[in-house]
Amino acid sequence: MALVFDGIKEKTLVLIKPDGIQRGLVGEVMKRFEQKGLKVVGMKMMSLDEAVLREHYAHIADKPFFPGVSKFMQSSPVIAICLEGLEVVQAVRILCGITKAREAEAGSIRGDLAMSVACNVVHASDSVETAMKEVPRFFNPDEIFSYDKSEFVNVYTEDERE
Ligand code: ADP
Repeated sequence: MALVFDGIKEKTLVLIKPDGIQRGLVGEVMKRFEQKGLKVVGMKMMSLDEAVLREHYAHIADKPFFPGVSKFMQSSPVIAICLEGLEVVQAVRILCGITKAREAEAGSIRGDLAMSVACNVVHASDSVETAMKEVPRFFNPDEIFSYDKSEFVNVYTEDERE
């Protein structure tokens, strides 16, 4: 069945990068997504290879820093997460902060937890169109779960849930 990316079922792809795994930040990052009111509909640890990284980072594959990014992303497993919520792509980008972590806004994941450009703890889809490609890139259809989350009645108004 095709994945839904509308309304409160909009989805985004997050990766907790090797620096987040090595520095023991998985719980901290997950806490921020959960406290925001986002719904976790997929989560798994996986190792990335050169082929998936070339596809995932096609927009930077010709940059001089790409080999370093690719090596870093293969230096340990990552945790892939699919989050769901209203305008979740934009909400998660704001939670993550800008690429250059040492200039990212305080309060954001990168702003609070990182100093590097490459080692910036998380990846997050940058648009709904990108998310529609990235979620299936990292998750098989049976790894994305559909379930009711009772707290949504307090996270959104009835109008927003329609
Ligand atoms: P973002 O992850 O914030 O969407 P990009 O898509 O531009 O940023 O870049 C993908 C990833 O490549 C970044 O998160 C970062 O890990 C790495 N990267 C981007 N620019 C640089 C750079 N100038 N030097 C080293 N690594 C970089």
